[in-house]
Amino acid sequence: MTSILMYSVRPDEQEAIQAWAQANDIQVDTTNHDLGMKTVDMIKGYDGIVIQQHAALPEPELYQRLKEYGLKQLTLRITGYDIVNLQAARENGLVVTNVPAYSPRSVSELVLAQVMRLVRHLGEASAREAKDDYTWAGLQAHEIHNLTVGIIGAGKIGSAVARIFRALGSTVIANDPVHRPELADTLDYVDLPTLLQRADIVTVHTPLDETTHHLINAQALEAMKPSAFLINAARGPIVDTPALIKALQTKSIAGAAIDTIEGEAGIFENDLSGTKVDNQALETLKAMPNVEVSPHIGFYTDAAVTAMVNISLNDVKTILEGGTSEHQVD
Ligand code: NAD
Repeated sequence: MTSILMYSVRPDEQEAIQAWAQANDIQVDTTNHDLGMKTVDMIKGYDGIVIQQHAALPEPELYQRLKEYGLKQLTLRITGYDIVNLQAARENGLVVTNVPAYSPRSVSELVLAQVMRLVRHLGEASAREAKDDYTWAGLQAHEIHNLTVGIIGAGKIGSAVARIFRALGSTVIANDPVHRPELADTLDYVDLPTLLQRADIVTVHTPLDETTHHLINAQALEAMKPSAFLINAARGPIVDTPALIKALQTKSIAGAAIDTIEGEAGIFENDLSGTKVDNQALETLKAMPNVEVSPHIGFYTDAAVTAMVNISLNDVKTILEGGTSEHQVD
């Protein structure tokens, strides 16, 4: 029987993994360890491998070892494949695949939740309620259909965000070098200064690269309306965090929601209660009632986790059967 080992498996992935194994009559075993030089021997005897981790895999010996053990592929059940030494993989005949899109709705629905909390001032209301202050002053909200949502980067996730807010009656504008004809009924493309000046909600959905690092800096924040909210559920370094804190403190913008922040590695997805969290900016933002913080859970829905498991295991099966995966990255 064909057998696959999946590394770095969380308990919440097991149900989808076992369902796939049963449906495909393939043995799928799991470990919670990352792949690395210390754990690569675990793959001996298996036909296929699936990984998901932040730790990089630069060592050429690791790829040689996978080849020696008869592996033909290295499948990631996440999007980012920068952890893989693609040259070493190629030299050892390993086909590398990723999961380029698992569920754009997952992130966009978190954005909807964050926007609604900000627009209805629920953070401020909760902070007051904690002190038994039930007053209304300052809590009057705008209605979402009267607001303009500005999307920077209307790709897979940004398009899903656009469709949600369009369905709620909001005006949607976007800045993206790529103009998608299928979004013609949903949004209007504008340049970045126009977007920052017009939007009541600015939400960033670009990849992190040299064009987007600190794209939202002091100047961009200054260009936003004082009543506007900023959302970052893309990648932390797209927003200059000290500039964001300053903009919030000086009321140059009204609030923010962050699902991702510079320096989040080692913090988000960990229980650090009782310890000193080494990220002062995060502590400062968390203390503000007009800031929503979530620990990089945009992707984390049942549909997305199931898709990550199914797409990656289907790719392993395709490659082991001699086929070609459309998710090959090398
Ligand atoms: P995508 O590649 O489908 O879309 C990105 C869009 O950004 C493209 O349309 C591209 O043309 C546009 N773009 C690139 N550079 C730009 C620039 N300088 N200005 C304006 N637009 C620009 O990507 P996606 O799958 O929609 O992912 C978007 C972001 O969401 C990524 O940063 C990704 O890492 C992040 N993400 C976050 C989570 C989470 O859990 N919070 C989960 C998945 C993805």
